[in-house]
Amino acid sequence: MNSIKQRAQALKRWILTQNTTIDATDARRSGQVATLLMMVFGVAMAFGMTPGVSLQTVPLTPVVEDMTANPGTVTPTPGTFIQQDQVRSGDTLAALLFRMGVSDQAALDFIATDSKARVIYQHMAPGKPIRVEHAANGDLVSLRFPYGDKGTLVVSRTLSGFTSSLVGEGDLHRVIQANGTIHSSLFAAADNAGIPDSVTRQLTRLFSTDIDFHNDLRSGDTFSVVYEATQNDFDQVVPGRILAAEFVNKGVTIRRVYYESAEGGGDYYTPEGHGSKASFLRSPIEFSRITSGFSAARFHPILKTWRAHKGIDLAAPKGTPIVAVANATVTYAGWRNGYGNMIELHHANGIDTVYGHLSAFAGGLHAGEKIHQGDLIGYVGMTGWATGPHLHYEFKINGVQHDPLGPEVPRFASTNLTGHARAQFLSATAPYLRQLDAVRGSAIARFE
Ligand SMILES: [Zn+2]
Repeated sequence: MNSIKQRAQALKRWILTQNTTIDATDARRSGQVATLLMMVFGVAMAFGMTPGVSLQTVPLTPVVEDMTANPGTVTPTPGTFIQQDQVRSGDTLAALLFRMGVSDQAALDFIATDSKARVIYQHMAPGKPIRVEHAANGDLVSLRFPYGDKGTLVVSRTLSGFTSSLVGEGDLHRVIQANGTIHSSLFAAADNAGIPDSVTRQLTRLFSTDIDFHNDLRSGDTFSVVYEATQNDFDQVVPGRILAAEFVNKGVTIRRVYYESAEGGGDYYTPEGHGSKASFLRSPIEFSRITSGFSAARFHPILKTWRAHKGIDLAAPKGTPIVAVANATVTYAGWRNGYGNMIELHHANGIDTVYGHLSAFAGGLHAGEKIHQGDLIGYVGMTGWATGPHLHYEFKINGVQHDPLGPEVPRFASTNLTGHARAQFLSATAPYLRQLDAVRGSAIARFE
């Protein structure tokens, strides 16, 4: 891991190395010392720091190369600047490079015509990082640009012009752990814990057969998560799959761990080896940053008209994704009076679910289609007899409507691991569960 401390040490080592090559008693070389100092302060200035700021306080990570890592990285030559920035909306390559201190028409001409280098133009999406090394006069020395999963595109100055190459970096795989305590909202707690949104979304999906995230969360609930990630050459950490997670909701602890069995592919299980996807989601409305900010009171099922229309009405902003609460076959997707745009799903054990007033259907959804739990089926709207955007949701057992959160709702039989398969599961998942214990333990220690 390239911590700031390690990078600061790397910079120190680098400065020491440079100093040993400069004999301070050699008057002819004093100019080089000045160049070196200018360069170091130039790096600081490039950050928008005011002159005179102590070097120790300069944030080093985005600009200064760690000389000890990545043999493929550029070695700065004295008098050159290394800078990292990212593509902004509306950037041209010339504008982006100019912002980083590069003013080099020959380099732009090379990138525009070289068969490898010109892919930069096709991949200049906002947010993409780019790193350059340039001379004080604006000449490009080298440029590094991420090229999808193919590696890093490198353009380098040669004696006669420029050359381009594709360097496979071999992304660094990491396992990250984090934990949070809910005070206001789940997303606020996740932000505090530094957990990326993609992981938070996985977390809510993972526990959504046990927890109705719209209604069940309480202040003081805690969660811990162990997830995999990759770190690329530009220090971008790309989050991946949750390996293990724990949620303590209203004092009840629920744990899940990921396991790839020899036969069945990867899935989530309880620590004891019970399959965890077998029941119904507690809510068909996807929990998100947007709906989490939506008043919990407005999500509360409206039950007073239960007899009249035998469903529950879940208010949510127009366009909120609706997902299938369990594996199903689509039996109807179209217009029906009163319901407006309506979907009916048929599940196992004589259960059907109905979704009304949709603004739109998921692309391609049609009767006869087989879908999985959590699949997007449509979007909240107010078509048909509706006075505001909400989802009309019915849960039917053998044709009779029931409260979808009521005790009559069956828990499907889970796919449980037994015998040898279970033994393999227990040994394979033990390290992740230990990690979960560790992150949880540290959280408890911190709050005591
Ligand atoms: Zn209704």
